[in-house]
Amino acid sequence: MLVERVRLSEIVAGRRPATTPIGAALPPGVDVRQTRAVDYGDGCVTLATGETLTADAVVVGTGSRGRLPEAVGAHAEPPAHVASEGGALFRLEDPALPAALASSPGGPVTVVGGGTSGVEVAAELAEAGFAVTLVAPALLPTLSPAAARYAQHTLERLAVRWRQGRAHVAENGLAVSDGTGAVPPAGVVIWATGIDVVVPGERGQVAVDPFLRQPGTRSVFIAGDAAAVRGADGDLLRGACASAMPMGMHVANNIHRLLAGRALAPWSFRFLLVCVSLGRHAAMVQLVDAADRPTRLVTGRLAVWTKELICRGTIALPLWEARTGVRLYRWPQGPLAPALAAPSPAPPVAPRVAPPPGAAGRLESP
Ligand SMILES: Cc1cc2nc3c(=O)[nH]c(=O)nc-3n(C[C@H](O)[C@H](O)[C@H](O)COP(=O)(O)OP(=O)(O)OC[C@H]3O[C@@H](n4cnc5c(N)ncnc54)[C@H](O)[C@@H]3O)c2cc1C
Repeated sequence: MLVERVRLSEIVAGRRPATTPIGAALPPGVDVRQTRAVDYGDGCVTLATGETLTADAVVVGTGSRGRLPEAVGAHAEPPAHVASEGGALFRLEDPALPAALASSPGGPVTVVGGGTSGVEVAAELAEAGFAVTLVAPALLPTLSPAAARYAQHTLERLAVRWRQGRAHVAENGLAVSDGTGAVPPAGVVIWATGIDVVVPGERGQVAVDPFLRQPGTRSVFIAGDAAAVRGADGDLLRGACASAMPMGMHVANNIHRLLAGRALAPWSFRFLLVCVSLGRHAAMVQLVDAADRPTRLVTGRLAVWTKELICRGTIALPLWEARTGVRLYRWPQGPLAPALAAPSPAPPVAPRVAPPPGAAGRLESP
């Protein structure tokens, strides 16, 4: 299934369906196996079913999932009950979350985390009539002070109660380090404190060479959150659809080059902006410089339309390109970033090996 994470706050509030069948988002002819890859190497992928797929090239795009509190366990499957008075704890992208909220309309909800995901979902749920408490030491700490002020003002207008502290799961439920130590009672606790990268074989985020290839391999490419890539300032790029989509396209182009025996192209990218929705009637667009540092802030209708346009484009544009064969999608180029890993030895001209029928497929978990 395809989850539109840029619209997660709307999905959680019950405004949109949670998922789209992955087949609907792919052009015909792609063989989808609904299982989990447990390992991979040059030319092969091992599935949880025990089957091994062979391929001319392998792309690892296994991405990330929302982080859970240590006390619950990183690999636990939510909902995890933190305490009777604390409520049931969910990851933001948990498919069971919209139903849990729908079963208690207007009920108390605690959102933990003041980044873009936490702020977006707190605003959306408050606008939908829920009594929302947001627990976070700061609002939008990676954006500008003006963005934090605008978020705080809008959340206040929507009657979101901000408890300025860190939440943790204690023995008797959810505790907040805001001086009172009190536990905010809530039917539902949404944990939105960041993401953890998931790569088969417990590898962790993979440091790639300048061509987004896994060092030491000939034809294993890493795209999206699974790839550790530096930005122009030398820092690791944050996970975002704005970088994951172009990485997927760049990897596809490099696979064409590899299979045709041509030189691979180095990856180049910079962020331009961060969009944050604050319910259906407010949003902000934080412009950033080449090193992803906040510059100007745009609010009002222009910001609402920009966010909506981007959300629509993430699904509509790739589908339209696949249908028409016309390439429109471009991404902002940055100074070439220092790669985290040395380039792999120059690839030999790849023999075109046709995989056995049905062997090479695009992988997607259920
Ligand atoms: C809660 C949340 C909210 C977010 N909100 C935003 C936002 O508003 N804007 C934004 O720009 N970014 C947002 N992000 C980040 C953004 O979603 C990621 O940067 C982007 O989706 C990365 O794309 P990806 O293709 O690398 O990975 P993902 O989108 O994570 O996709 C990876 C896919 O691989 C599958 N998979 C995982 N392991 C295996 C395996 N072993 N075998 C087979 N399949 C596997 C997963 O099920 C998933 O379908 C959010 C992330 C999270 C967790």
